[in-house]
Amino acid sequence: MHFTGRTWRPPYEAHSVIIQATSGCTYNKCKFCNLYKNECFRMSPMEEFEEDLAEIKNYQPYTRRIFWTGANPFGMSYDNLKLRALTVRDYLIKCQTMAMFASIRDIKNKEVWQLRKLKAMGINGLSIGVESGDDETLAFANKGYTTADILEQCRKLDEAGIEYYFVYMAGLAGKGGGYRNARNSARLFSQLNPYFVSVDSLTLFPDTELYKMAQQGLFEPAGEKERIRELQLLINNLNIRTHLFANTVSNFIPVTAYLPYDREKVTNDLQYVLDNVDEIEMQEYRKNLKSLG
Ligand code: SF4
Repeated sequence: MHFTGRTWRPPYEAHSVIIQATSGCTYNKCKFCNLYKNECFRMSPMEEFEEDLAEIKNYQPYTRRIFWTGANPFGMSYDNLKLRALTVRDYLIKCQTMAMFASIRDIKNKEVWQLRKLKAMGINGLSIGVESGDDETLAFANKGYTTADILEQCRKLDEAGIEYYFVYMAGLAGKGGGYRNARNSARLFSQLNPYFVSVDSLTLFPDTELYKMAQQGLFEPAGEKERIRELQLLINNLNIRTHLFANTVSNFIPVTAYLPYDREKVTNDLQYVLDNVDEIEMQEYRKNLKSLG
């Protein structure tokens, strides 16, 4: 298999077969991110892609879901995505879903009819790291799009019937900003249909711009308890039927919920932690995180 770049897949894709479709990120400017800092964006040549498909066919011919790696393979053109999706079908006859990361920017240059066709070819299950649904936070993190863009582009996915997942980052708005971030994000997400919302909590890694800003006193991270209250607010204000997973290593307390049914129970569980665990203990946990992988 040709894994030349940093290979990263979300925890919930652990059961998918992975293949490198792209490496690196077309954007690489988010202030908190160091994932692809030292890589240029690259599309895997078709020969490589096909060799890998042949290898998968050899070992796992009945693969039903395949995850294309890279920060945003969905940034490829419609024609390129179509070619690759059809090629996957040539090799993996049982494959029903081709999932991948996508940015809001990657949807912009695709028409709804094209999205529908991609879905029909098996492209489905887009992980979108929106991180926030609050304009102030998006601008601060330099995400490069606004809440209006998220609304417009994800409505196209809804229209085309493409399943997508949002990633939200607690703590990104900094000290005192989490409550605004949670409320505005819940309001935005509630106008859309993410199949689930996955929550990470901001961890500052030394080779990021945000870390440097924190060192210079230009960014004050939210406390750990503030982040848990932010999560409570997000859960309490999400008015759609959706799953929420805040169970990655970046979360001090792992939480999963099916909303709105689990709302009260999960809010109470989080309150128990707020009432019984010390802020210092939570901060120690984060200090000991070496990576999110
Ligand atoms: S968060 Fe995603 S879009 Fe932003 S720089 Fe990192 S990989 Fe690229």
